[in-house]
Amino acid sequence: MLRWIDVLKYAKYSNPEPPQRVEKTEEEWRQQLTPAQFRVLREQATEPPYRNAYCRTYAPGVYACAGCHSILFNSTDKYHAISGWPSFKQPVSKSALRYLFDDSYNMHRIEVRCNVCGGHLGHVFPDGPEPTGLRYCINSESLIRQELPAGL
Ligand SMILES: [Zn+2]
Repeated sequence: MLRWIDVLKYAKYSNPEPPQRVEKTEEEWRQQLTPAQFRVLREQATEPPYRNAYCRTYAPGVYACAGCHSILFNSTDKYHAISGWPSFKQPVSKSALRYLFDDSYNMHRIEVRCNVCGGHLGHVFPDGPEPTGLRYCINSESLIRQELPAGL
């Protein structure tokens, strides 16, 4: 299980090796993604709080990256953080995400990206619920919710 100390180490030293890599040009991403998805995933934009697709959704399933469709989060780790964005306690695996220090807007935050395609997802904060103590605050536009495959 990931803790805040692990997140800090990943951001400071090096991130876990992704299971695979997807690399595309900016033009290819523009053709594949909707304008709203492109702004979040490729330009690090933040969507409006509350007025987004998955803020209040708790149906069972998994959440995949809207860019490369890698599975990133499980609905069982989603919780109500009253932040206005979908919030998760942990990713599906340690290698699903990469972490970067983000000092933009005069804030010291840790940015979270998809480890496979590098798409911007949101940020992670150390004020989440136990047992992880983590709050992954993620843009809905960077995610696609999928029903669980049969047998899982
Ligand atoms: Zn991705």
